[in-house]
Amino acid sequence: MMPSARPIRMNKDDPMRPNAQPVASHFINGRYVEDTAGTPIPVIYAATGERIAQVHAATPAIVEEALAAAAAGQKIWAAMSGTERGRVLRRAADIIRERNRALSELETLDTGKPMQETLYVDATSGADALEYFGGLAGSLTGEHIPLGRDWVYTIREPLGVCVGIGAWNYPTQIACWKGAPALACGNSMIFKPSETTPLCALKVAEILHEAGLPAGVYNVVQGMGEVGAALVSDPRVAKVSLTGSVPTGRKVYAAAADGMKHVTMELGGKSPLLIFDDADLENAVGGAILGNFYSSGQVCSNGTRVFVQKGIKEAFLARLKERLSTGVVMGDPLDEAVNFGPMVSERQMEIVQGYIAKGVEEGARLVHGGGRAQREGFFLEPTVFADVTDGMTIAREEIFGPVMAVLDFDTEEEAIARANDTAFGLSAGVFTRDFTRAHRVIGALEAGSCFINSYNDAPVEAPFGGSKMSGVGRETSKEAIAHYSQVKSVYVRMGDVEAPF
Ligand code: NDP
Repeated sequence: MMPSARPIRMNKDDPMRPNAQPVASHFINGRYVEDTAGTPIPVIYAATGERIAQVHAATPAIVEEALAAAAAGQKIWAAMSGTERGRVLRRAADIIRERNRALSELETLDTGKPMQETLYVDATSGADALEYFGGLAGSLTGEHIPLGRDWVYTIREPLGVCVGIGAWNYPTQIACWKGAPALACGNSMIFKPSETTPLCALKVAEILHEAGLPAGVYNVVQGMGEVGAALVSDPRVAKVSLTGSVPTGRKVYAAAADGMKHVTMELGGKSPLLIFDDADLENAVGGAILGNFYSSGQVCSNGTRVFVQKGIKEAFLARLKERLSTGVVMGDPLDEAVNFGPMVSERQMEIVQGYIAKGVEEGARLVHGGGRAQREGFFLEPTVFADVTDGMTIAREEIFGPVMAVLDFDTEEEAIARANDTAFGLSAGVFTRDFTRAHRVIGALEAGSCFINSYNDAPVEAPFGGSKMSGVGRETSKEAIAHYSQVKSVYVRMGDVEAPF
């Protein structure tokens, strides 16, 4: 916990776990650093609205310290062998798994997501990324290209100092999804978490260094957009990876272009989920629940436009309503019986409430929820609108909350055309028992991360990322290596040079 804050409430059964809480605002050059001259950023527990900690935004001096440390640390790190680098990442993965419960509690306090989720999805997926990219680090090589007597060889080189900027919905996972491939390739990283969830990335940095990372290779600085902007525009930075909204993505991409920097953009979505008449009803309802209400709907890839074929529509709505009425357990997210938490912040709750009001105003049929829960904290009821039409605001704009829009359709061609009629292209899903159709439909949908008879699975082995306005580049999987390294090509002439004069 931060020195100026009230204590973070930890699990009373096991309150004394070592290193459970970060001890200062920033982590630079292998240690925690504080500078109270920076703007205070309160950390609010979304389930109660109480302030549980406070960090300070990075001052220009802190930003400079992080950049200098990252530039120096990167040289030391890149000089190590891939196998040595991988060993550090895999050791960090082991430590994260050992401390999963404490880290999950911190994630819950940072975001308000229920322990029922954070115990299985957050620190664990961060550990998966560190283990996976740690495993790849020793085999990142170039190629030998024979050209008769001459030949070319390529060298896969790190980019240098990378900046990661995170959203608030998955703070540990995002810190690891960006950090693990960056570090595997021999880069260093400066990570700026969202000001809404500043705590978890500090623990990632602490654990990486405990695992043997040289000082300066993974740094965390706090702050609002301006700190991110200062990092992006610095000439020492070679690459920027942002997870955030499309408007922020535009700004960061433009700033990066000014310095001709590499970018990865993981941005928003308004993804379609197509449910055909022949789908397994229970699985389709389950997929729609996962794709709209997990993390209280604060997931970028959510299938928030649920296109249901007319023959199954009323059965789908009836079963969905039944499962939402009987299955949702709202309450303190630290209680493991709870499966539905609050919005991350009061502001996000108000944004979502605005969209719900818009849905009603524009004539969608509210079939479930729609209100703020009668309890402390920023809780909204899981909300379902039916009879949504393509032009409605709730069918066009990313809401980032527990609001499902159900639209209906007659034919496959019509559903595909309407599903693709959006500027976003992050994810898409289809539920059908007809496998020929499943592959045909997925082939026609304009999206980067797709699902057949499932929704929102994100194993580290699979590429994740969007097309169209949802972003550029891919995180996770071998694909990420290309986005954190560059190839040097070397022509080797074995004979004499034939010059024209
Ligand atoms: P924002 O776009 O508001 O912010 C993202 C990050 O960028 C924050 O850390 C923010 O700082 C920072 N930032 C803001 N302005 C600038 C700037 N000019 N230069 C540099 N950095 C800046 O997104 P949210 O945090 O509200 O997250 C929700 C969004 O993220 C949704 O649109 C969601 O779809 C998307 N997202 C995408 C994912 C993907 O993988 N495709 C995954 C998760 C979320 P601060 O907020 O502290 O001011």
